[in-house]
Order: sequence, then C-alpha cells, then structure tokens
Amino acid sequence: MEEHFTIDVVCLFCQATLKVEEGKELQSGDMIKCQECGEENDFDSVMEVAKEKGIAKVEAEVADELNSKFKNLFK
Ligand SMILES: [Zn+2]
Repeated sequence: MEEHFTIDVVCLFCQATLKVEEGKELQSGDMIKCQECGEENDFDSVMEVAKEKGIAKVEAEVADELNSKFKNLFK
C-alpha cells in the first residue's frame, strides 16, 4: 500500500484541477483562482470536496489490499 495519497483539488465551477503553487501555504478563508474559468474558489469548500474524494480513494485502496489478502488465505 502506498504511503502517500495525492488529493486532487478541483475547481468547484468547472472541475478543472486547481494548481496550487508549490510551497504556498493555503489556509482557511483563502481563495484559489481557477486557471481555466477564472472563478475564485473558496479554499474551505474546495478542501471539503478534496477530503471526501481522498477518503473514498483511501477506502478503495484498503479494500483492494484486504481482497488480495483474503485471496491468498484461500489459495
Ligand atoms: Zn474553473
């Protein structure tokens, strides 16, 4: 299982992946401007969506891991 999970932050308006400058610290209340549509995304809302997606991704990975373990058990 991978140690790191990348969480894609997407524009709430056009679903484009938002590129956050490396090393830039974003915090609650910040606005992230979308390069695609130019809309300002509220950082808190964007992170909320990203977290939900991230959690879903982690759960899927864990499920895969368990499935392969069970397969090995019943070989
Ligand atoms: Zn956009």
